[in-house]
Amino acid sequence: MADNFIHNMIDKDLAEGVYDEVYTRFPPEPNGYLHIGHAKSIWLNFSTAAKYGGKCNLRYDDTNPAKEDMEYVEAIEADIKWLGLNWEKRLWASDYFDTMYEAAVELIKKGKAFVCDLTGEEIKQYRGTLTEPGKESPYRNRSVEENLKLFQEMREGKYGDGEKVLRAKIDMASPNINLRDPIIYRIAHAHHHNTGDKWCIYPMYDFAHPIEDAIEGISHSICTMEFEDHRPLYDWVLREVGFWPHMPRQIEFARLNLTNTVMSKRHLRAMVENGAVEGWDDPRMPTIAGIRRRGYTPEAIRDFCEEIGVAKANSTVDISVLEYCVREDLKTKVESRNVIFNPIKVVVTNYPEDERETCTIENNAQAPEMGTREVSFSKELWVDGEDFMEAPVKKYFRLFPGNEVRFKGAYFITCNEVVKNEDGSIKELHCTYDPETRSGSGFEGRKVKGTIHFVDAKTGVPIKIRKYDYLFKENEDGEMELNPDSVEYIDAIAEPSVLDAEPGERFQFFRHGYYVADSKLFSRETPVFNEIVGLKSSWKK
Ligand code: ATP
Ligand code: MG
Repeated sequence: MADNFIHNMIDKDLAEGVYDEVYTRFPPEPNGYLHIGHAKSIWLNFSTAAKYGGKCNLRYDDTNPAKEDMEYVEAIEADIKWLGLNWEKRLWASDYFDTMYEAAVELIKKGKAFVCDLTGEEIKQYRGTLTEPGKESPYRNRSVEENLKLFQEMREGKYGDGEKVLRAKIDMASPNINLRDPIIYRIAHAHHHNTGDKWCIYPMYDFAHPIEDAIEGISHSICTMEFEDHRPLYDWVLREVGFWPHMPRQIEFARLNLTNTVMSKRHLRAMVENGAVEGWDDPRMPTIAGIRRRGYTPEAIRDFCEEIGVAKANSTVDISVLEYCVREDLKTKVESRNVIFNPIKVVVTNYPEDERETCTIENNAQAPEMGTREVSFSKELWVDGEDFMEAPVKKYFRLFPGNEVRFKGAYFITCNEVVKNEDGSIKELHCTYDPETRSGSGFEGRKVKGTIHFVDAKTGVPIKIRKYDYLFKENEDGEMELNPDSVEYIDAIAEPSVLDAEPGERFQFFRHGYYVADSKLFSRETPVFNEIVGLKSSWKK
């Protein structure tokens, strides 16, 4: 990754000998699928380790038993692998529950933790506010022996959820609310996917995370800005518990926000559960699984993460930056195909009825090394609705009555007559071709201003298109709302070679945009293509 303030901090740490190896970790909670925001964190952690010849662990933060699921674990690993990254070790925070318990007992013995019987509501009231100090809990001065006994009983299951908690004894008057005797263990009678029913008390994130980092020998624990105010607690835990050779350093960066996108697992899960989308991998979803199915490449995601960089100031990135990155990546990578979205029939009146010929066209005008392919041409052809105007506007160079254009890879064709149905709609266009103008023949007699694409009606095949708009739109009050028109289903006609696509294969549909054969639904019988991104960019580097 390009240099940033995190790398500058690491450079300094290495120069001063604070650490001699860079070791990072990506710590997802397995309570949902990863989204594009996680991709930023993944790329930052893995590429930072790689830059310094260090290592990066994948560690599941599974300290919250109720919400976790193995489906999510598998999805997370598939996503990271798809991004092309390899973790050093795959670990579970829950593997350290014994050590965390011992650490809590140590704190009690040092007089730095106590069992508190206040209710959740009371603890909140006692905590104070940003302007007022908190009040000490009446249970704060329990003896070490009593605390050890009660904590032991908490562990043994003597109390119900919420009846007691273990709190760190720090400072109820601290200006930092996180240091006002924070809860470090709570009771939860819940089955845990890894430890089963062994535990009915679970460590809180702020207590667990520094211990996880320290056990693994993490040097730089990179997290998002909302943990900045928790850093003193992170350091306090390491200092007080400290039976490790070195202290990890927590560094915060601004989380990614994107326009037209909601990025919290809680929201995304609700949408999956209430059927607002087809699933976590719906191509409209900002999940990595959705973006993958949408046809994005891992390279595009990585370029995007590089492009936006890391900073401390929160901001919202325009989604057109992400779109730009995939467009740039696909530009010279994928072949083009002729597809007609809104067909108008062209009859070439001077072309023989039973004849058919093939024309050679380049697969990618910007990448000649991608070669050519043959497309069929005959008397009846399909052209796109937007390539014809009965009454042309100014500077319209495509097909209109009396105008001559090039049919890409074939001939110059002139529109002579618009034939209508009884209801006034267009039935077909009667045109003539000039045999001398065949592409590649070296014809130089005259020039035309417009080139349009076509599909031979004799060989064209029907395909299904899913064209997308954003899943969310901002309303007048600046709030994100579900867009009721986020997908448009189009029956299109394509040159037959698209049926040979592999699920997941990408193309440029000439003049329309980039498309991918849906990885789940595509087959020769049901050729479903998803729009990846349109051709036009509203953002420039
Ligand atoms: P969410 O609120 O979407 O559930 P989270 O932060 O609770 O996100 P975790 O699984 O705890 O999700 O996150 C794993 C890592 O990814 C954390 O280090 C977190 O800071 C980081 N992360 C999550 N969302 C973003 C984001 N939008 N931008 C950058 N990093 C993120
Ligand atoms: Mg979380």
